[in-house]
Amino acid sequence: MRAEGIVALAGMMGSTAKVRKTYVNIQCPFAPFYHKNGTDNDPSCNVFIAEKDRSGWKCHSCGRHGTLAGMVIQWAILTRKDATDLLDLIQEEEESVEAVCGRLDRKWDEKWKEREAEVVKNMDLDVFSEDELAPFLGKVPKYIIDRGYSIETCRAWRLGYDKEWKDEDGPRPRLVIPIRRRDGKLVGMSGRAVDDIKGKKYWNYWNFPKSHYLFGEDMVLAAQAAEKGREGDKYEPLLAITIVEGYLDAIKWWEYQIPTVSIMGSSISNEQIHLLKDYERLYIALDADKAGDDGTSEIVRRLRNRMPLMRVPFPSGKTDPKQLTQDEAWYALENAKRLA
Ligand SMILES: [Zn+2]
Repeated sequence: MRAEGIVALAGMMGSTAKVRKTYVNIQCPFAPFYHKNGTDNDPSCNVFIAEKDRSGWKCHSCGRHGTLAGMVIQWAILTRKDATDLLDLIQEEEESVEAVCGRLDRKWDEKWKEREAEVVKNMDLDVFSEDELAPFLGKVPKYIIDRGYSIETCRAWRLGYDKEWKDEDGPRPRLVIPIRRRDGKLVGMSGRAVDDIKGKKYWNYWNFPKSHYLFGEDMVLAAQAAEKGREGDKYEPLLAITIVEGYLDAIKWWEYQIPTVSIMGSSISNEQIHLLKDYERLYIALDADKAGDDGTSEIVRRLRNRMPLMRVPFPSGKTDPKQLTQDEAWYALENAKRLA
């Protein structure tokens, strides 16, 4: 990295920087964690200037050293700060950041493989009987019909109504949304309050690991299997998929016949990244706000070398997918911009 880049990078990590002939002398970003008195007032960390090639660094006080991208990632982990901008800055000049991200991903894959046997063994411990849903079925709240969802949709997703729900503030009926694993087994249930007064909008019925699933994935795969059946059983890779934040976003786009899953929030988990690796193209339609933008950056960082990543633009004034009409949604998909 060139000297100006290193100075900018140091500034973003809160370190001072002095440019020398072959290196930039900065305060060690790990001083708060690894230096005896927690400071580095007489800067002891040198980052070497390099043209296009990857820059190395070394701290003479704590002895830590490595690549710049490695430094940034470790710093981000220790300080719990978002390092996307810093990594982008390095990437403008160096290819090595891709290698580092790839390495971290492979590490996660290995960890997953180790865990997989155990996960498979315990898999059915996560599964609930369909009987658990029975008390809520047969009726859906007016709330969802008023928002333009059809009765057929409610039936297909087995949505229900919990009239009895109450907490210390009194009764607060909920739309019941079952959450299913890839293979269609019931793993959780979420309740959406049918009013917009303050308080908890969503409430999870069972303490289930939400981050382990992509909501709606069973519906996407079932639709694909049905389509394949019609076309004969030639092998096809899994299709392109769109990801959104909310349950109701995913259900609305299913009505539009767009294969869509929800990550049930704006930030993606390791498990969800792992599930998404099975798809061949990803359309990202997180909400058009700060949280959605941050979530999108994280997804791009984690999946950039795996598949084409596309950002779905919303028409002006619309901030989440369920606000789009069918024509607008398809138009937005056709005009998606490639991010990586
Ligand atoms: Zn140090």
